[in-house]
Amino acid sequence: MNILVVDDNRVIRDIVSAMIKDSGHVPIQADGHVAALHHLETSKIDLVLMDIEMPEVNGFELTQKIRLIHPEWIPIIFLSSNDGENYLAQGIDAGGDDYLTKPVKHVILNAKIKAMERISLMKDELDRANKQLEILTSIDPLTQILNRRGFEETLITAWQHNERQKSDLSLLMIDIDFFKLYNDNYGHPKGDECLTKVANVFTQSLNRATDSIARYGGEEFVAVLPCTPVDGARFKAKDLKLSLLKEKIRHEYSTVLPFVSVSIGVSNTCFGAQTPTDLIKQADIALYKAKQDGRNGYALFDSSLEK
Ligand SMILES: [Mg+2]
Repeated sequence: MNILVVDDNRVIRDIVSAMIKDSGHVPIQADGHVAALHHLETSKIDLVLMDIEMPEVNGFELTQKIRLIHPEWIPIIFLSSNDGENYLAQGIDAGGDDYLTKPVKHVILNAKIKAMERISLMKDELDRANKQLEILTSIDPLTQILNRRGFEETLITAWQHNERQKSDLSLLMIDIDFFKLYNDNYGHPKGDECLTKVANVFTQSLNRATDSIARYGGEEFVAVLPCTPVDGARFKAKDLKLSLLKEKIRHEYSTVLPFVSVSIGVSNTCFGAQTPTDLIKQADIALYKAKQDGRNGYALFDSSLEK
């Protein structure tokens, strides 16, 4: 661990630093608040040993400042020659995690460092697990692409970005034709296999880093295409449709083709959507049109389609 020793007394800094080195850690020294804040800003500090009695800014005040500036938790242990109970309470209130009286005994300092290290490791693990959980909650477990929640987050980010860039944001709502008949006749395991295949084909076809594909629900997928004008969206829709047909996934119960095909509704911010929800609604309306037109194709949103 990198341990920051904040003390205005050089002799104490050196003694404590020697103990830290002895315990197998790296001491970094600061003689006051300016140097302490500088080190916290520029190096990775795992633990702070903080003197309380310092001129200008004392240890309590400096701790409060650190807690304000650095949202991530860094363990802070106070060092003071005052062993009054009030001091201990005040230190914890100021945001400190523990309290040691000077002169510091090596064995005690070592034990405290070990305890803080343990807590710090647990916190790292917890942070990692939380991050993993966040990813998991936005991924569809079957197809491994974004789920509805992941899609909604992606769309909101893309929408905000689009408003700043004054660009065109396109949305494709995609539905597998006669999927219910596929499931009913081939069984759900085959149906799941089909959904996974479709998701893989779409993921491969959407090769721009900014594009994303999500499972909207059941057999519905949705693609978010930032910075894509209508022509580009139309091209993408055609491309997705054809890439899937190339796979020739048998579907003898479809009335359009003996293979799995899709219908796609296309919306774009240039069609007047005021919110992300509008954009989804428009794509849905266009999808309905594509189905009415005989499926295995795409349709663009048009305001005359509303109602
Ligand atoms: Mg002092």
